[in-house]
Amino acid sequence: MDLSLVIPVYNEADNLRPLCQRIHEALVSTNWTYEVVMIDDGSTDGSAQILASLHADDPRLKVLRFRRNFGQTAALAAGFAYAHGEVIISLDGDLQNDPLDIPRLVAKLNEGYDLVSGWRINRQDPLLWRRLPSQIANWLISLTTQVKLHDYGCTLKAFRRDIAKELKLYGEMHRFIPALAGDLGARIVELPVAHHPRQRGRSKYGLMRTLWVILDLFTVKFLSSYATRPSHLFGLCGLFAVLLGGAITLLLGIQKVFFGVRLADRPLLLLGVLLIVTGVQFVTLGLIGEMLARTYHESQEKPTYWIKEVLE
Ligand code: UDP
Ligand code: MG
Repeated sequence: MDLSLVIPVYNEADNLRPLCQRIHEALVSTNWTYEVVMIDDGSTDGSAQILASLHADDPRLKVLRFRRNFGQTAALAAGFAYAHGEVIISLDGDLQNDPLDIPRLVAKLNEGYDLVSGWRINRQDPLLWRRLPSQIANWLISLTTQVKLHDYGCTLKAFRRDIAKELKLYGEMHRFIPALAGDLGARIVELPVAHHPRQRGRSKYGLMRTLWVILDLFTVKFLSSYATRPSHLFGLCGLFAVLLGGAITLLLGIQKVFFGVRLADRPLLLLGVLLIVTGVQFVTLGLIGEMLARTYHESQEKPTYWIKEVLE
């Protein structure tokens, strides 16, 4: 199979028929064999019945139905795991992404990339509580991760099969897919795509997600830079704290022993001791992290590298 479309669906009843229609119109001239994988993420608005009847009409539509709402990231992960195509496309189920962009994404992918990420140049969402927070998030993500894009939040993306299957998605990490793919060594490029205002149904997100982005950034940065060497991060903080605390207490000790200075009313003593104690804890935390990293990789027989090809 050439192509799998992966579409998370949560209460999009009125969008599903027109979406399927537009997908088929966009792909009919390409001669690709394809499947459309829709993940019903615990919809309560009758989306499930509509998907069932659409599936009955066209077996190219596969439906994965979650038992409850697990979130967009989980839906994408389920779709990627299920997909059979050589190329996997993710897009939103609310008609904000345009299926007509799919052939262009695939063409770009075939220029030798592993991931083509959509860039909603003319984003059709409210400025104040959607585009502005998202701009801040984009700026933060590109500052922190090594993959520099304009628009991380666009679901419309094209993946080479192996990359999509290798991605480990947790929580609300779908916004960090380019960064996670970058860690795997994927060649990533951005392509301007169309974006339409939401006509039917409502958006599932509020302002809170910008806050989550900040916390997720710590996770992504840690995983990409220190997951296999946590003691370098914690150990460095720990060593610094122990050395500083050691110097302070040494200084105070000399003052006490040789000059008879009273230490009872010296707040600096408290700081020195605190630094030593937290420093030791940081170092040991790093060691525990090292053990966890080994358990993580060895229990799943998951190597710390990913070979692209072997020439023998
Ligand atoms: N979605 C989902 N599960 C959720 C929230 C959203 O599957 O818990 C789907 C939703 O149906 C849509 C896509 O994810 O297809 C993007 O959601 P939405 O349009 O609300 O996000 P926005 O475009 O406002 O960023
Ligand atoms: Mg949307």
